Amino acid sequence: MSYIKGLKCRECHRHYPKEVLFVCEYCFGSLEVDYDYEAIKKVLTKEKILSRPKNMWRYKELLPLEGEPTDGLNTGFTPLIRANNLAKVLGVKELYIKDDSVNHPTLSFKDRVVAVALSRAKELGFRTVACASTGNLANSVSAQAAMAGLRAYIFIPADLELGKVIASLIYAPTVVAVEGNYDEVNRLCSEIASKYKWAFVNINIRPYYAEGSKTYAYEIAEQLNWRAPLHIVVPSAGGSLITKIWKGLKEFEKLGLIPEVKTKVYCAQGKGSSPIVTAIKENSDIIKPVKPKTIAKSLAIGNPADGYYAKDTVLQSGGWAEEASDEEIVEAIKLLASTEGIFTETAGGVTVAVTKKLIEQKRIPPDESIVISITGNGLKTQEAVYEKLPKPIKIKPTLSSFEEYHRKEQ
Ligand SMILES: *Cc1c(COP(=O)(O)O)cnc(C)c1O
Ligand SMILES: [Zn+2]
Repeated sequence: MSYIKGLKCRECHRHYPKEVLFVCEYCFGSLEVDYDYEAIKKVLTKEKILSRPKNMWRYKELLPLEGEPTDGLNTGFTPLIRANNLAKVLGVKELYIKDDSVNHPTLSFKDRVVAVALSRAKELGFRTVACASTGNLANSVSAQAAMAGLRAYIFIPADLELGKVIASLIYAPTVVAVEGNYDEVNRLCSEIASKYKWAFVNINIRPYYAEGSKTYAYEIAEQLNWRAPLHIVVPSAGGSLITKIWKGLKEFEKLGLIPEVKTKVYCAQGKGSSPIVTAIKENSDIIKPVKPKTIAKSLAIGNPADGYYAKDTVLQSGGWAEEASDEEIVEAIKLLASTEGIFTETAGGVTVAVTKKLIEQKRIPPDESIVISITGNGLKTQEAVYEKLPKPIKIKPTLSSFEEYHRKEQ
């Protein structure tokens, strides 16, 4: 039983069949999946959701498949942590962390979008999948394609962190390191996608892929005992996740699963790669492309595909945006680790640093519910912090050697 009606243009609202399409041929707007919400409302109750396994597919009627899911059966339902230690440092009352740094199988939120993309790619008849990636998407497509027995072509900028390169290579896809930045990789992939019959998860089947991000928001609402938080801070690269978090909350409201959504959504980017933040601050309809320069490489997209919609989402919700410098990112990674025991990657550093700024600026009030979106794992971006940490103490394997050090400490 499928609840997808088809695809719909986000700009002119023209309808399209549920095929391999991603741009409107009339206005060049991007397409998104259109559901039969009336029918979904009849079947998707809280009881139904609660009776299902704790993974992202417990909301499957709101995801764009025609049959049953085949991928990501252990993906999602990551912890929502009440972060009291960090709350104390930031001077706020009710703070949570949605922790996708421990998502299955590749430790980032990208496992959600890839699970949907691969399940749908198979339904559409593809045997080869591909992606243009800033790192985490590469890891997830590599791993999940291996599990699904699909061929995978992975295109990445040549200067990615070693951890992200190895965490793709280990699954034995074809990894292509392009001498250029992400925006150049993406442009190349668009050309390849028009020539080869491959499912580029974030290009030609993007409307289906992007829907997977909604599950991050569904889980937050469920884990907060069926309500939306008042504030949520989201790291942005192409700007898709932030728009889908908002869409997910609004869908839950529409289905009567949560009360009216009053959530303000905030966009976080690295300084040196913040075209969406700039557009929000200037309330500009044009997203001015930049040449990215930040240690938050997973967010280093200078020409974001969904930048315009991300800006719209933030301003519509009454939220705001901020950027974090490289130094602020490193400090924030250390702060999160030392208060909550979570080692996040540079994107998480951006989000924590930006949350801190927004609280200091009084954009986020201290006495309301706040969720920080942690979307990736710190073991993948070790070079960002290694030089900034104290070195281990070296001793001989004797008690006296230890005590010599220990005496000096006291
Ligand atoms: C891809 C990514 C994002 C942002 O995703 P967009 O949907 O492109 O804005 C955020 N955090 C991490 C760790 C990512 O890998
Ligand atoms: Zn259109």
